[in-house]
Amino acid sequence: TEIFNGKHILIIGLAKSGLAAAKLLHKLGATIVVNDQKPLDENAQALELQQVGIEVICGGHPLEILDHQYDLVVKNPGIPYSNPLIQKALEKGISVVTELEIASLLSEAEIIAITGSNGKTTTTTLIYEMLKDSKRIPLVAGNIGTVACEVAENAKETNVLVTEVSSFQLMGTELFHPKIAVFLNLFDAHLDYHGTRHEYGLAKAKIFANLTEEDFCVVNEDDAEVMKLSENVKGKKVTFSVQKKVENGAFIEDNQVYFQNEQIISVDKIVLPGKHNLENILAAICAAKLAGAKTKQIVSVLTTFAGVKHRTQYVTTIMDRKFYNDSKATNMLATKVAVSAFHQPVILLAGGLDRGNEFDELIPTLKKVKGVVLFGETASKLQHAAQKAGLGLIKVVNNVTEAVKVAYELSDTGDVILLSPACASWDQFKTFEDRGEAFIEAVNNL
Ligand code: ADP
Repeated sequence: TEIFNGKHILIIGLAKSGLAAAKLLHKLGATIVVNDQKPLDENAQALELQQVGIEVICGGHPLEILDHQYDLVVKNPGIPYSNPLIQKALEKGISVVTELEIASLLSEAEIIAITGSNGKTTTTTLIYEMLKDSKRIPLVAGNIGTVACEVAENAKETNVLVTEVSSFQLMGTELFHPKIAVFLNLFDAHLDYHGTRHEYGLAKAKIFANLTEEDFCVVNEDDAEVMKLSENVKGKKVTFSVQKKVENGAFIEDNQVYFQNEQIISVDKIVLPGKHNLENILAAICAAKLAGAKTKQIVSVLTTFAGVKHRTQYVTTIMDRKFYNDSKATNMLATKVAVSAFHQPVILLAGGLDRGNEFDELIPTLKKVKGVVLFGETASKLQHAAQKAGLGLIKVVNNVTEAVKVAYELSDTGDVILLSPACASWDQFKTFEDRGEAFIEAVNNL
């Protein structure tokens, strides 16, 4: 905690992570200046910092800020490196890092870090749950709610800090050093920020940059790119695969999940649906086992954990119809993954914000479902795609609440009723969480 005492630090971009970093560094004796795009009079976070005596410069990113000398710049992960102020800092030879770097330097606990294009939150939560009753006392940080800086401060040697890390955060790290680094998969995403897929992969691979022989690198053997990116990593390699037996790690054989030679659980007993979740589960087993989790606790989690909220989350069963909330599915790929997670007949609830795209890409997925109930701005475009898919059962309604009622009326015993909208929620809701809550409420009112 001494390392930041007396240092001059510029924080660019507030939001949750910048706010947490500013408070923490201020408390540790650093002199902080905060710069945020949003004007001061509508910037509650900046006002809060100003009240505790931190200098704030709001309403833009004037280059003159850097006429002063700083020891370090902490930037919000969402601000691109092309930002002129960031460019100027780099030209001046100042280190530009993200809040994750600060948190990792301050945490006394060993860190388990999870990255990948999809499945981070689910895997992070699984690992946390699996370690809960062990001696390690896990703390969790990431997208799930708490910023790493808020957690790191209280992390003791007896803890283990389980944190999901995005490519944006990893880009801004230099010394970040997890004990166990998990890399799940790599899909096309965020190419607008990273430029090319190659660069996106390299940003994520920074999770491995400081591993030593004492550390572990947990990677997906079914993803050739992830394997390639972990080729020359120093940490001990532990792998997982849903397709084949692996030498050192987690795999499935005869419908049983194994970690090394130990049989852990039968696949049928796992509550989380879908092959994608099986990947997350195998990754989580590797990390949890390496960190000292007991098999009994792992089994207990897998037989009860219904999923992270809004991510193919099991809600309830009514008259032998199972309801799932996948409100987080704001694009077609996510809906495709969710639908293919079920072997039962699915009635799909979809629709939302119109971003101008067509839904032809969703046709193969629509061919697999029994029926669709559509709502929101994209309802008629989705209807068109469902007709092209040759679907018999197509209904258009006004909102999620109505969709639940109509889907229930149309359903038979054994069906799955799945909210997986393939669209953002902002046409009718503030957030995808609100949309998921509306779904759950409507289900509970049936
Ligand atoms: P992230 O935190 O990386 O966004 P989540 O665990 O929140 O990931 O899952 C978001 C969505 O991504 C899920 O609803 C599901 O549709 C999809 N998904 C989750 N895990 C995987 C995986 N291993 N492979 C492919 N898609 C996945």
